[in-house]
Amino acid sequence: MKSGIVVLAGRSNVGKSTLLNALVGTKIAITSPKPQTTRTAIRGILNDPRGQIVFVDSPGIFESAHDPLTRAVNETARAALSGVDAICYVVDPTRTIGTEEHRIHTLLRNSTAKKVLVRNKTDLPERERPHLAAYHDLVFGSGDATFIGEVDVSALEGKHLKLLVDLLFDALPEGEPLYDTHQLGDIPQRFWIAELIREKVFLTMHQEVPYAVTVDVDEVAMRENGDIFVAARIVTTNDRYRKMLIGAGAQRVKQIGQMVRKELELATSKRAYIELRVVTDAKWKNRL
Ligand code: GDP
Ligand code: MG
Repeated sequence: MKSGIVVLAGRSNVGKSTLLNALVGTKIAITSPKPQTTRTAIRGILNDPRGQIVFVDSPGIFESAHDPLTRAVNETARAALSGVDAICYVVDPTRTIGTEEHRIHTLLRNSTAKKVLVRNKTDLPERERPHLAAYHDLVFGSGDATFIGEVDVSALEGKHLKLLVDLLFDALPEGEPLYDTHQLGDIPQRFWIAELIREKVFLTMHQEVPYAVTVDVDEVAMRENGDIFVAARIVTTNDRYRKMLIGAGAQRVKQIGQMVRKELELATSKRAYIELRVVTDAKWKNRL
């Protein structure tokens, strides 16, 4: 059996979250037109007769270097890459290679992990992907032996993902599964639920509550009859946002709870109960 951790690396909007969802078959990562809606690392597990792949999407880590914190961003990205077994370098051939892409490529070159170049969005006509060859040349033109292959996929339509998974299994070491698959199948993971709630907060609040929101999931339990019970807090940095999140007659938070419940029920085929509270904690940003 093989097993290992595979990081999805690449610029913002290349399709990493879409790819993760397509690879593991459930909606685990959030895809959103708003950048960095996901802040924590998202894991998705793929089980196969050959073994287990744990995919890690680290939103924001490879993506935001337009600030004085570039060095810190690079450090975080480097840390995220250490100790992983393989890396999918996801690129978007509809977009030109720019400074940020070069920065990410350089970061990846410095890692000894085995890598696969993933040119996404093959569902689009070739004339809309004029930079296809440029990405190949970027990676293979300089003779980087850690790149073991290249594959053109459509994360959106789920095309050629099998080829990618085959390449990754080739790259992974022998080992026992890292995650207990039985447990994962039964009860949805806290991080996944937290991200789901965050997504619904963003959808409901539009631009009004910028990024001053985090979610703490206090309890995920399965009742004897199989129903899922979730207790969570939406934590915001200031009281004004708290009031907006609750809404008149608590109608906002109810709406958020309903959307979360529906999606959770869809994903698990079980009945779900969501207990949501909105609280203020001016210091939550410091906790990160
Ligand atoms: P991330 O920022 O790298 O995680 O990118 P997302 O997964 O959030 O995707 C960014 C945008 O690209 C979304 O609008 C996706 O629907 C779109 N997208 C992702 N994969 C594909 C693909 O294979 N084909 C097309 N046409 N669009 C895609
Ligand atoms: Mg993403």
